[in-house]
Amino acid sequence: MPDRPFTYESRAQRVLFGAGTLAQAPDELDRLGARKALVLSTAPQRGQAEQVAALLGPRAAGIFDGAVMHVPLASAEAARAAARDAGADALVAVGGGSTVGLAKAIALVAPLPVLAIPITYAGSEMTPIYGLTENGLKRTGRDARVLPRTVLYDPDLTLALPVGLSVVSGINAIAHAAEGLYAADGNPVTSLMAAEGIAALGRALPALHADPRDRAARSDALYGAWLCGLVLGSVAMALHHKLCHTLGGSFNLPHAELHTVVLPHVLAYNAVAAPQAMQRIASALGTVDAAQGVQALARRLGAPVALRDIGMRAQDLDQACALALRDAYPNPRPIEAAPLRALLQAAYDGAPPA
Ligand code: NAD
Repeated sequence: MPDRPFTYESRAQRVLFGAGTLAQAPDELDRLGARKALVLSTAPQRGQAEQVAALLGPRAAGIFDGAVMHVPLASAEAARAAARDAGADALVAVGGGSTVGLAKAIALVAPLPVLAIPITYAGSEMTPIYGLTENGLKRTGRDARVLPRTVLYDPDLTLALPVGLSVVSGINAIAHAAEGLYAADGNPVTSLMAAEGIAALGRALPALHADPRDRAARSDALYGAWLCGLVLGSVAMALHHKLCHTLGGSFNLPHAELHTVVLPHVLAYNAVAAPQAMQRIASALGTVDAAQGVQALARRLGAPVALRDIGMRAQDLDQACALALRDAYPNPRPIEAAPLRALLQAAYDGAPPA
């Protein structure tokens, strides 16, 4: 029984899930009424973009492989020009959060439907959130126009995702669901999705760490990522996402690794204020304590657990703390300078979450 009143709102998206689903991309573009789609990717993923373009045949208007992390304004403008010059009437994003983010940056200014084909577990394809980085500052916003209209989740496309990146990307997804479980605007449906998403990733990550080509584990992980992304797009995130946004943007730290290091410490910080959420996270992971369970998972799978190991400098911790305190945002436990600074120190050192 729900313990408080809630509002539940769903968004119009069509999601196809399963091995081999990629083959349906041409039909899905037809459903969108598109005839000339620009295929987007990062430079390293150009090969995958070429495969998709070949599958689309005459429906492909070209490939733009300039997606980079955090969508710098210059790359967004180059991609917008490429879409215009190609006469594109749709966008196909083949990649992770950076590539989906680039498609969103185009869709923000041109009314083009986005078909997303995710190959990491970041979850951007399920959210109306966009980000653009200008002069080192990342600005994010919500706009219904950027939400991908169709998402094809084909686990076969994730078989080549390097195992290290798979693990941190999976824990990045767990972070969306974990914060969703204590979101101020949460509801029973997003909580169900969050618990199921965490459980799926908690099972899948050790299995794909043992065998990255385990197709059942890849499917389970992508299923979890979908659910966690849906939670991210539906309810308000709190301290963890704010902190990662600040640290990532200001100190140029790698996105998924950063989420992996910080999450256990934020869960420990919020534990007293959100005991039910912690219990659901712990039980989804099959552990006793949510914060320790997440860090143990990361350690066991060889992921980083210390900010100092992913490029953070000790002398920047005070500034990071000040930046994180600057704007108000919802969080179950009030955000105060001294405990926040202690959290950052523990994350820097890779200490056990407390
Ligand atoms: P990413 O898209 O930058 O991908 C990480 C790296 O992995 C890239 O170099 C990419 O080329 C490589 N890669 C991807 N798939 C691969 C594969 N199959 N094989 C080999 N290499 C592969 O990273 P990400 O973690 O997916 O996304 C992070 C970005 O997305 C951040 O900028 C973050 O802010 C944003 N994001 C946005 C939202 C949102 O809702 N707007 C949600 C999550 C993440």
